[in-house]
Amino acid sequence: MIYLDNAATTKPCIDAFRRAERFITEQFHNPSALYDEGRQLQSELKKARSVLLSKVADETWFECIFTSCGTEADNHAVFSFAKRGNAVTTAGEHSAISACFHELKNKGNVEPRITPLLADGRVDVEKLLSLIDDKTTFVSVMHVNNEIGAINDINAIARRVKAKNPRVIFHSDGVQAYGKIPYRLSKDVDLYSISAHKIGGLKGVGALIKRKSLVISPLVMGGGQESGRRSGTENTFGIMHFAYSAEKKFSCLKEDFERVRGMRETLWNGLDKDVYVRLSTEDGTPYILLVSAKGLRGEVLLHMANDKGLIVGTGSACSSNAKTRYSKVVLACGFDEKTADGVLRLSFSPETTKNDIQGAITILNEVGRELARRMK
Ligand code: PLP
Repeated sequence: MIYLDNAATTKPCIDAFRRAERFITEQFHNPSALYDEGRQLQSELKKARSVLLSKVADETWFECIFTSCGTEADNHAVFSFAKRGNAVTTAGEHSAISACFHELKNKGNVEPRITPLLADGRVDVEKLLSLIDDKTTFVSVMHVNNEIGAINDINAIARRVKAKNPRVIFHSDGVQAYGKIPYRLSKDVDLYSISAHKIGGLKGVGALIKRKSLVISPLVMGGGQESGRRSGTENTFGIMHFAYSAEKKFSCLKEDFERVRGMRETLWNGLDKDVYVRLSTEDGTPYILLVSAKGLRGEVLLHMANDKGLIVGTGSACSSNAKTRYSKVVLACGFDEKTADGVLRLSFSPETTKNDIQGAITILNEVGRELARRMK
């Protein structure tokens, strides 16, 4: 099977698994326990925090709270800081943010404001700034879009947001950026969400990176772990595995970035242009290529490709309900419903091989041409 749905999840890193195995077989204790075994685990978790943070941020300024996933980190950010006035986000956000904004609207005490996208999937920064006023308390702009792959310059955006209203808390969803594209967080970014399973870690492990001086209320209450900011016994194995996976990813991030970019372009060059149009631009993340087989249904192509040994994603919600059938992100970029209906998301990992790419080209061209013939 050729696997090109790495933006959904990645294969867990086996080297990291070997290194972390002792946290299941030997050091399985409760990291909050007072005995030596517990204290040793706290010190291992401290090392993991330092590894995960130091790759993208200044440790004197930032800290991290472990969460159960990227979704929880996003929820924690929104519900801790969007409490009054208005909150601003973008039309490109993952549902982990957009559903929270929907909830703000339902609750009625915060006015949610949604910024439109440019044609390439980045947020329209001028429109974003025009939505920020004295009453804005919280702004969330995703770093890398999970459908079209557009990269927002979050440091520059955060700087301009703070220049307009210095009291705003600025959050970014970095789930598709962390461990994949090179960057360092500036001090204008207050909160940043990451997730393990997008970079070879395990599902069910994430973190909210935050500015140390920012006081945050807990979303999950109980035993007071994570300094009272996120209760629940820490998933020591999952966290250590995340840190080891991150070490591996960051050790060759730039080389991987270039190599994966080459593979993305080879794939695009090999696709039949009578069938496929490209929606992702070249300056987006190399890890995602969004194409559309215009006039065909992406979901049908996904199943046809699956039968031939290729796993890909669609950007759409895969629903027969007309309101949710089309990817809202693709529509927000200005593409029509026909284009949105034909979308296939091809997403890579550093483990993707040249053979995978050649195999994917053959299968995608075969299924695209076959379905086009059937539709005539
Ligand atoms: N944010 C983005 C941009 C994502 O792509 C995803 C997962 O697809 C999430 C948040 C949610 O992360 P998790 O699966 O860890 O909850």
